[in-house]
Amino acid sequence: MADKRKFEQPGVDSNTVAELSKKLLEANAKLQAAELERKLMLENISHDLRAPLTAIRSAIDYLKQHTSADNKKELDREELSSMLGMIDTRTSTLEVLVKDLYYLTCVESEKADFDLEKVPLGQFLEEYYFGAEIDSRYQDNELILNIADDYRTIVSIDVLKMQRVLDNLFTNAHKYSGKGDVIELGAYDKDDMACFYVRDTGIGIPKDSLEHIFDRTYRVSDARTPSKEASSGLGLTIVKSIVEKHNGRVMCESKENQGSIFTVMLPRGDK
Ligand code: ADP
Repeated sequence: MADKRKFEQPGVDSNTVAELSKKLLEANAKLQAAELERKLMLENISHDLRAPLTAIRSAIDYLKQHTSADNKKELDREELSSMLGMIDTRTSTLEVLVKDLYYLTCVESEKADFDLEKVPLGQFLEEYYFGAEIDSRYQDNELILNIADDYRTIVSIDVLKMQRVLDNLFTNAHKYSGKGDVIELGAYDKDDMACFYVRDTGIGIPKDSLEHIFDRTYRVSDARTPSKEASSGLGLTIVKSIVEKHNGRVMCESKENQGSIFTVMLPRGDK
């Protein structure tokens, strides 16, 4: 039997070797998981790009056929307007996807600029809330602000990027709720973390989908996304990336047909 000791380097004990090889294996597993996630994202995005492109191409071919010189049947106004409406909707879907993809790539880049400043979290959220209150999109919903008057916690954030987090959470709360549903924005501290949340009383998320919603381009099901809303399926991935770049965490609790609560936890800047 081969003598194992002769392969060991002088001065390197076997515990160190075992420790190093464990770390290597872990790093390798992480790399493989990242590579798998990247492949899945590419597959999903190719699919999401192809569907609207195919529809736009078919509509253009149809319009070309019916407007050519030797065409017998002229398009009536109604048909033309419905074709253009479809092209418009599908183009918006593509625009949202490409914009979100570009934004995510920028946020995740090593060189991403995070312009951190210390701000009172309560005031930041209050300002966002008052903007949302006058935004006509939210007029079907009841908006509630739940922040104590004496809440003074400071956080270190990139204000524009954290506004994007709120935009995405509010857009979803609205998108997956009905008329008269409630959207609540609140804040509190938990140990060394400052937490804010967006709660809604909408359709909620099935239990088995909860662990996937932050994955790239994951949708619980296309049927649940209102057709009038262009969506990339990247909204929550962007939220997660921004929050993690602030050394924070985001989590979701939800019950089907009762609503969802998305909580963002950030390190307190006054600790
Ligand atoms: P999308 O662009 O499809 O909304 P997101 O990444 O923002 O993509 O969300 C991923 C999925 O999580 C959505 O497709 C939706 O099914 C579910 N989801 C997100 N937010 C909510 C919410 N507030 N209520 C119910 N379902 C939600």
